[in-house]
Amino acid sequence: MLSCAMAPPRGMEQLASLLGVKVALDGFVKTLDEKVCSTETDVPGIYVCGAVEGPKDIPESVAQASAAASCAARAVMKVAQKPTPALLIDEEACGKCGLCVVSCPFEALSIDEEENKVVVDEATCRRCGLCATVCGPGAIELPNNERMQISQQIQSILKDGSGALHPLVLAFCCDECGYSVLDSVGFQRKRYPPGIIPIFIPCLSSLSIHHVIEALSLGADGVLILGCLEDRCHFEEGAIKARSKVEFIKLLLRELGLLENKANILMLSGNMTQDFVSKVNEIADRLRRVKT
Ligand code: SF4
Ligand code: SF4
Repeated sequence: MLSCAMAPPRGMEQLASLLGVKVALDGFVKTLDEKVCSTETDVPGIYVCGAVEGPKDIPESVAQASAAASCAARAVMKVAQKPTPALLIDEEACGKCGLCVVSCPFEALSIDEEENKVVVDEATCRRCGLCATVCGPGAIELPNNERMQISQQIQSILKDGSGALHPLVLAFCCDECGYSVLDSVGFQRKRYPPGIIPIFIPCLSSLSIHHVIEALSLGADGVLILGCLEDRCHFEEGAIKARSKVEFIKLLLRELGLLENKANILMLSGNMTQDFVSKVNEIADRLRRVKT
């Protein structure tokens, strides 16, 4: 098919820099994922559609416009309805150390000096869960993703599933690309080892080392940490933080005399289904050899 070359309009870079959105190498606006998140930019509340993201025809632009409008409506409703608080902060347990405040990538936390307590800006908080993982006394919980709830999932999978499936691998998957890649694998009816059992968390930045160790000590043959590509993390730093946590876990396993390759990390975009299948097969083969 013949088609004319298309370049981004003049002024595109200035507009992008004014809004704080990233521009790809070809000069068009960079979205979080051109296949599964093609309207979302890395700036919350800014969505794109049409040729600003790259060359496309009118029907595709109109479909993308509907998706962008729906994303914008969802974002507004989330703030307006406030169905649950962004965070649960236990004021008595909090020592006001400020670690959560400096760790938040979105500057959503502050310490109210007069009230002597940590306050969260509900509209700015993206519910990534990073602050909960840095708080020593465990004073912060992410509603619906509380530490105990994740622990209970781990315990129930390992209680019901251990022995029947091997290798049994608990996969901590982010709700963004981790979820999308598994969804696409299922949709495409691709097969992968049945012992890979997902546990969903909002972002890899909310991954708790405690939960990984808990899974291994309760008998999981391995853990898989599955999330977005580093430059596509929906919460900016999640994938980078997860990589350093995995390095730390491997070090810990080495120190304990356990196999460090029990902990694996995969960073994929939602459409990388074949990469997912071949990598999890490799991981399962490796763990199977250890088991026998
Ligand atoms: S990291 Fe925990 S203890 Fe420190 S200020 Fe934040 S909530 Fe309080
Ligand atoms: S959940 Fe994420 S965005 Fe919200 S305050 Fe904690 S670190 Fe910041």
